Amino acid sequence: MDNNDLNAIKSDFPVISAEMYKLLTELYPICRSITGNGVRKTLEIIRNYIPIERHEVPSGTKVFDWIIPKEWNIEDAYIKTDKGQKIVDFKKSNLHVLNYSTPIKSKLPLSELKQHLYTLPDQPEAIPYRTSYYNENWGFCLSHNQFLTLEDGKYEIVIDSSLKDGNLTYGEFFLQGKKNEEILLTCYTCHPSLCNDNLSGIVLLTFLAQYLSKLKLDYSYRFLFIPETIGAITWLKLNEEKISKIKHGLVITCVGDSGKFTYKKSRLGNTEIDQTAINILKESGESFQIKDFFPVGSDERQFCSPGFNLPMGSLMRTMYHKFPEYHTSLDNLEFVKGEYLIESFSIYLKIILELEKNFGKFKPEEKLKDQRNMDDNDIFMNLNPKCEPNLEKRGLFNKVVHLDSGTALSINWVLNLSDGRNSLSDISRISGIEYNLIKETSELLLKHNLLKKIT
Ligand code: ZN
Repeated sequence: MDNNDLNAIKSDFPVISAEMYKLLTELYPICRSITGNGVRKTLEIIRNYIPIERHEVPSGTKVFDWIIPKEWNIEDAYIKTDKGQKIVDFKKSNLHVLNYSTPIKSKLPLSELKQHLYTLPDQPEAIPYRTSYYNENWGFCLSHNQFLTLEDGKYEIVIDSSLKDGNLTYGEFFLQGKKNEEILLTCYTCHPSLCNDNLSGIVLLTFLAQYLSKLKLDYSYRFLFIPETIGAITWLKLNEEKISKIKHGLVITCVGDSGKFTYKKSRLGNTEIDQTAINILKESGESFQIKDFFPVGSDERQFCSPGFNLPMGSLMRTMYHKFPEYHTSLDNLEFVKGEYLIESFSIYLKIILELEKNFGKFKPEEKLKDQRNMDDNDIFMNLNPKCEPNLEKRGLFNKVVHLDSGTALSINWVLNLSDGRNSLSDISRISGIEYNLIKETSELLLKHNLLKKIT
């Protein structure tokens, strides 16, 4: 097949679009998490499309600053009234259970039960998606409308789950090209019944891998199906020797809604993948926006941590957090459509074909003038530069929850940009966060041995 014959490729689009949506529908009911059988089942289904390899990494394995947690599985969960009526049922929606809930079988008065119920008062029809990965807890999520109908009395609570030593499971598919230089394409597999975030990414990556398998390619391609954050950290730890081969990468998420495209640049900001993605979006005639890198979001946080600083961007439609359906039961099979998935597929394919066309020919655009203030002497080094440090085990995460979200953001910025090149005032300018908060954050991180002052 001629790689660049896009018209020939386009004639396949109606079939691919329908098949993508079919796979999305098949994966939708599965209760996934960062570990457990939901992920295995998901990978097994993907194996019907591409020969993905399954990896199992035992609980307790140290991966940079993190430890692989216990494996979580769940059979059933419900809340029953004292009259025996099931009012919240995991089998109707897996979002009803706080993901990673410990097992419980109990009878509780409403006042106690309420401390374990999560709702969205501003979106009273929607069931929220909530997790408690690194903090053992149990809970239920329900619509605020239903919550308001709960009457005083005793409720029977059952969560038939298990949290035991086991494995973290991820999938990997490698496509050897003529050359050993690699393009890394990733998605995350840890969300339960949520379509745009991130089943859309899983589906797009599967079909992209299947499609590219049929072409003659210069680059080699690595496709990762990993649980978000801990999966990216695990993969980077286990594959450190392969990392220098990665020339470009994209994190695939939120690609199935009707919104315009969003390209989030790599931390480097001016790499071939950044310029190629932006050029393809410009040529496509689609409306789009470009975001500079920021150290919040998906797995680019790990791939673009200062110790790796990989040329990886993220191409989305409406970005996470920016659509009201995000992390709720409204991110469902109606919200995502085959026609949007195939548009996203087409843009991804064009970017890849362009990278293939330019193999070995890329000339970076002239660098922007360095705006850093060289007189500044507040320069720090992140002592844990490979992936994000685990803030929760240091009590920093809880602290953050009690402080305003600005501090959480400030921690991410200071850690990500403290590579010995950016002063605190640079970090303040780049992040748009006021200097005093950046300064305070650096003091907090110094105290926790996460930073070292170099000038
Ligand atoms: Zn998410």
